[in-house]
Amino acid sequence: MVITDVTTIKLRFPMDVPMADAIHYMPERTTLLVRVHTDDGIIGLGEVAAYGGYLESVENLVTGELCSTILGEDPFRVERLWRMMATRAHQRGRRGMLMMAMSGVDIALWDIVGQATRTPLYRLLGGYRDRLSVYASAGFYARDKDVTALADEVGGYAERGFRCVKIKVGRQPDALLNPLADMPAAEYATVTYDEDVARVRAARAAIGPAVRLAIDANNAWTPSLALRFMRDVDDQDIYWLEEPVATEDLDGSAALAGQLDTPVAGYETETGLAGFRDLIARRAVDIVQPDVIWSGGITECRKIAALAQAYGLPVIPHVFSSALSLVANMHFIASIPNGSWLEWDQNPNPLRSELFLDMPAMDGDGDVRLRSDRAWV
Ligand SMILES: [Mg+2]
Repeated sequence: MVITDVTTIKLRFPMDVPMADAIHYMPERTTLLVRVHTDDGIIGLGEVAAYGGYLESVENLVTGELCSTILGEDPFRVERLWRMMATRAHQRGRRGMLMMAMSGVDIALWDIVGQATRTPLYRLLGGYRDRLSVYASAGFYARDKDVTALADEVGGYAERGFRCVKIKVGRQPDALLNPLADMPAAEYATVTYDEDVARVRAARAAIGPAVRLAIDANNAWTPSLALRFMRDVDDQDIYWLEEPVATEDLDGSAALAGQLDTPVAGYETETGLAGFRDLIARRAVDIVQPDVIWSGGITECRKIAALAQAYGLPVIPHVFSSALSLVANMHFIASIPNGSWLEWDQNPNPLRSELFLDMPAMDGDGDVRLRSDRAWV
């Protein structure tokens, strides 16, 4: 079998009400899907992270140089093809968009291997577990969404059976060095520090003591502000604090992780094995959060997970895009021994909820099962 073409599908969903995290304004959800075609008719599907950028920018990388690199090659040689894609572009992008584009191609190659061998990918990669605990990823900022509305939202997740909920924190324009000031729609749905503390308290009250509560600052804070905030919500039993500081501030994140007994999780904004090596080896994170559509595909994420395992750290991937990213990350988590929770975005997005005819669903225990009889789900 050889690769005959690489094509893409671009999809957009404009939101009725834009949402925002600490620094990102999201008026729409988008996805760039990758299809790797073969001469025996199998088409592998992958997804490239875009996260607010122009889909055409990463699309050109996929259909241009990455396609020309793998054309005519054997799709089973995923490790070899990954290295060829990375090496030939080493002067132009070892991180960022190149790693995003390679991630989509890598997932599509693994999909080809799964389809050709009629084996679900998580089983092909060792099949460590076949059920995952899912957490509701939500609690964003939005126009007219006050503390009461946030409490109503997250209380609903607890009622539906979620055993863990994550909300956003940090959209505070008065926070020192907050990158929000340089972002689009920086005035949209902002809060004061005290309002942010109140949001966390309201969310905890709404879900009760039995449901876990994580918070995500999306790189908005300095280490000192993160420490102060965590002291002010110390009685709220926070399960983890995600991306508290700038991704590049390894020493700041490590110092924070050393001072808090709440685990520091991150950094979805890092990519590649070498990037995560620095986060892990310098103890800047207690929970490791790669994303198969962003950090380098399933191939690279498994290496990141192995390194995390050597340091005794769990992996809770970032998952926040289409149904394909959800399912691909499911297979990744299910294949590794130190995999943990599956992030399940609860914001309205048909690219997640309607892309596939048959989507996995949460059971009464707050878990989702992988099926051993299907190549994907
Ligand atoms: Mg995050």
